[in-house]
Amino acid sequence: MINIIYGTNILEMTYELLCKLPVEKRLRCDMKVVIKPNLVVAKPADEGATTHPEIVEGIIRFLKDFGIAKPAIAEGSWLGEKTDRAFLRCGYETLAKRYGLQLIDTKKDNVVKKTASGLTLGICATFFESDFLINVPVLKGHCQTTMTCCLKNLKGCIPDSEKRHYHNIGLHQPIAALNTILKPDLHVIDGICGDPVFEEGGNPVPSNRILIGTDPVLLDSYCATLLGYLPEEIDYIRYAKEYGVGSLVNKGTKINEFQTENRPKNTVQNQCYLVRELAPLIDDRNACSACYAALILALNKSGIRKFNNKITEKIKIGQGFRGEQLTGIGVGNCTQGCKYSIPGCPPSAVNIIQALK
Ligand code: SF4
Repeated sequence: MINIIYGTNILEMTYELLCKLPVEKRLRCDMKVVIKPNLVVAKPADEGATTHPEIVEGIIRFLKDFGIAKPAIAEGSWLGEKTDRAFLRCGYETLAKRYGLQLIDTKKDNVVKKTASGLTLGICATFFESDFLINVPVLKGHCQTTMTCCLKNLKGCIPDSEKRHYHNIGLHQPIAALNTILKPDLHVIDGICGDPVFEEGGNPVPSNRILIGTDPVLLDSYCATLLGYLPEEIDYIRYAKEYGVGSLVNKGTKINEFQTENRPKNTVQNQCYLVRELAPLIDDRNACSACYAALILALNKSGIRKFNNKITEKIKIGQGFRGEQLTGIGVGNCTQGCKYSIPGCPPSAVNIIQALK
C-alpha cells in the first residue's frame, strides 16, 4: 500500500499522514529508533537534493507523542562532502539541539561485513543497533542510476570506501543486495521539490507530496513512474524485485491519497535531457557519483556542446582506468595515467571547468 499526502505544510502533513497509518502498532516505547535522511550534500532542502528537516521533525513529534523521545539521526554524505557540514547547512544541527537528539556521522562509524546475493558488503554498525529504522529519502533524479529514492538512499548507510567499491562492482546490484540486509521498517519519502535531473540539486521541481509505505520496491517503482520512467528501466529496482525485497507497482496497488485538492497540476517529468545529451562525451568506467556529477556540471557550464563535433576522444572517468597509461583527458585521481588528468577524488566542478578551459 502507498499513502500520499499533498500540500506545502510539510511538518503537519508528515505528522498527519503518520497518524492515519497503523505505525503505532509496530512501535514500543523502549525501542531505539534511527532516522536516515538524505543529506548527500550540504545544501538546503529547497535546492532539491536533501531531505526537508520539517519532515524529520514531523516524525520526531509523532515518535515523541508515542513515548519515544530521543530517536537518533544517522547519515553519511557522499564522497568529498563532510557530513557535519551537511548536518549544519541542512538544518539538522538546529533540529537535534531543539529535541536533544544525537546526530550520527556514519563516515566515522564501525563497519560490519555481511554477505548477500554473492556480494560481501560493509555496512555501518549503527543500523544494526537500531530496533526501528525509518528511511527518509528524497525523490529525485540521479545522473548514473536515473533516479534515487528508498532503495538507493541506503547507500548513506555504508562507509566511503564501500561507496567507491559499489561503483566498481556495477552499482545497481550492490544497492539491491544492500536492501536484502538492511530493511527499514518505514519509508517516508520527501517528494516536496526534488531535482528530477541531479542528485546534487539545483533544479528543484515542486511536486508537494509526502509518500509513506513499507515496501521500498513498490514505492520506488511508483516514484519512477512519477519521473516518467517504467520501473523496469531502473536496474536496481529490477534487481531488488528479483532478490525478493518487494513488489513492483501494478494496477492492483492500493494508493491512499489525502488532501488531493493540494496536488500540483504539473506532473514531475523526466528532465534528464542534460545528462543524456552530455553522456556521449564521457567514457565512464565505474565512476563514483560525486565524480560523474561534477563532470556533467562542468561540461554543461563550460559550454562544451559548441565543440561537440571537434571532440574526437571521450573524456575518461572512473576507477576502471586506475593504473592505465592513456591518451586524452581524464577526470579524477583514478585517471592520472592520462596525458591530461584533472586531479581530485572527487575533483570539484569548478576545477574541472578551469582545467578544461
Ligand atoms: S577519482 Fe573519482 S572515480 Fe576515482 S575513486 Fe575518486 S571519486 Fe571515485
